[in-house]
Amino acid sequence: MQKADRSVWELRRIWLVGFLLLPFLLLAGGWLGFNHAREQALQQADERLTLYASSFEGAINRYDYLPWLIAQTPDVRRLLDQRAPELIERVNEFLLETRNTSLADEVYLMDAEGLTLVSSNFRTAESFVGNNYRFRPYFTDAIRTGRGEFFAIGTTTGLPGYFLSQEVFSLNDQQRGVAVVKVDLEPLQADWQSAAEKVFVSDTNHIIVLSSHPEWKYRYLEPLTDQQLDDLERNRQFDGITLSPLGSHNDAALLHMPVSDTESERFLNRSLELSRPGWRIHYLVPLEPLYRFAALTTGVVLILYILCLTAVLWMRERSRRAHAALQAEQRLRNLNDTLEDQVIERTAELEKRTSELQRIQRELVQSEKLAALGIMAAGLSHELNQPLTAVRTYAASGRKLLARGLIDQVDTALDKIMTLTSRMSDITSQLKVFVRQAPIQKQPVDWAARIDFVLDMLEHRITQQQVRIDTKIPAQALIRGDDARIEQILVNLIGNALDAVAQQSEPQVTIRLSDQNHGWCLQVEDNGPGFAKEQIKHLFEPFYSTKNVGQGMGLGLFICYGLVQDLGGNIRAEIPDEGGARFVVWLPGSDEKATAA
Ligand code: ADP
Repeated sequence: MQKADRSVWELRRIWLVGFLLLPFLLLAGGWLGFNHAREQALQQADERLTLYASSFEGAINRYDYLPWLIAQTPDVRRLLDQRAPELIERVNEFLLETRNTSLADEVYLMDAEGLTLVSSNFRTAESFVGNNYRFRPYFTDAIRTGRGEFFAIGTTTGLPGYFLSQEVFSLNDQQRGVAVVKVDLEPLQADWQSAAEKVFVSDTNHIIVLSSHPEWKYRYLEPLTDQQLDDLERNRQFDGITLSPLGSHNDAALLHMPVSDTESERFLNRSLELSRPGWRIHYLVPLEPLYRFAALTTGVVLILYILCLTAVLWMRERSRRAHAALQAEQRLRNLNDTLEDQVIERTAELEKRTSELQRIQRELVQSEKLAALGIMAAGLSHELNQPLTAVRTYAASGRKLLARGLIDQVDTALDKIMTLTSRMSDITSQLKVFVRQAPIQKQPVDWAARIDFVLDMLEHRITQQQVRIDTKIPAQALIRGDDARIEQILVNLIGNALDAVAQQSEPQVTIRLSDQNHGWCLQVEDNGPGFAKEQIKHLFEPFYSTKNVGQGMGLGLFICYGLVQDLGGNIRAEIPDEGGARFVVWLPGSDEKATAA
């Protein structure tokens, strides 16, 4: 598979896994969020329930003692025996005072038939006095067991209350009655309402008797049985109230309750059993905020998931790029290695070719030398042929003159022979350089001293030609070379200059030596006829000569060129502005002290 295809496939796989995982993650996020919020809300509900239950219990229990206390009061007990008007009035006052002090709703006393004898509200229009409450369970229970308690809506006042009762005996224990304290629980609801919480208390029949929501009051959560309806009818617990069902539920933990005329809401039902048998206090946890929290968690999970997915894709992209960069670097390195190998290979090849070329050049030089030797041999035989013929002629004529006894003329002939042999010696001396093939001994040579030496050597010729020699030479000019080669160069250049000025009326040769570019530069200039510009390129060629046959072989400058090359310098010919000829030679300098004399 191609790398690009694999990368695309991997990317698709990430996206696919990402999309498949998403619903599960969202569900898990929502579920976790919901459960967390639910746990928190239920924990809070339990705390509130405990608090409200204890305040509910407290609201009743604080009056627990009161019926008993009233039952112990002598005037109350006496009243059961003799119902004298002043006693009635006194007990009425006592009950009113007791009610005001204890903050109970009402306090009253019934006889054994359930008739109210005295009551703390005796002065009000809703006075209980004269009313019979024998149908109330708190009366029957007190007569039966000595104590009773019951929640009911007052048949006289229409106000709900919790009734606590205690059996009372007359002083002589002949008569019985029931002391009752009615406790108002309505203020509890105000606390719940102000806390904006949904709290209610249900009784044994699952009828809501107290509620933070007034519309839920006196409505039942479970359908009432006929028995229950009969009992309610009999004890007139909810006198004047039409009981109706409230909400719906599949299980007791989840209630569907109306919150307004048209709307209803679902609540988690948390309840706690109260000390009154069958009574429970309920705290409702609305589900809506829990769902909202779950939605929020789902949103957060979605965002986190998108971020994670983006991070994964980003990291993947980064590692892909790093990998690509690494590969590119590797490719570059390989390329570099290949190039280096090629360079080494080519260099080796080049070196091989160079050495081959050098070998060929050497062979060429050798063959050129051989060719030159041939030419030279021809030139030499040509040059020597003429003087040799002349020598032979002079010798033959000398022999004849000697036979005739003409000694003077023989001497002249011998002179001529000597002149001719000396010229032949000159010709052959030029060839000596070709014989010298010894390697150059590069040692410090004082060029200035060599000039003086050569000028001394040519002194006779200079004087004879009456040439003015103008020199500008430093005391010492050290170069690297050997005496013989330097002298050969000087002899050729100065000799050529002397040849050139031979026909001049005021012959002059100028010799200058100056330091230049880590070496020394020699200029040999003369005021002779010079040479044409186009001649310059031929001057250093072998056997190039403009001199008459027998006067020059055209090897002097060619030899000079070779010697200067051997010493690592250079030579050139120039035409000075004022006419004549100038030869310039540069040779590398030497810092060592000259050893040559
Ligand atoms: P030769 O002196 O035997 O001719 P050279 O190689 O020394 O050989 O010189 C070659 C030629 O260069 C000379 O024939 C001459 O024409 C020219 N030449 C050399 N030196 C001078 C000079 N100083 N002035 C003019 N021409 C020169």
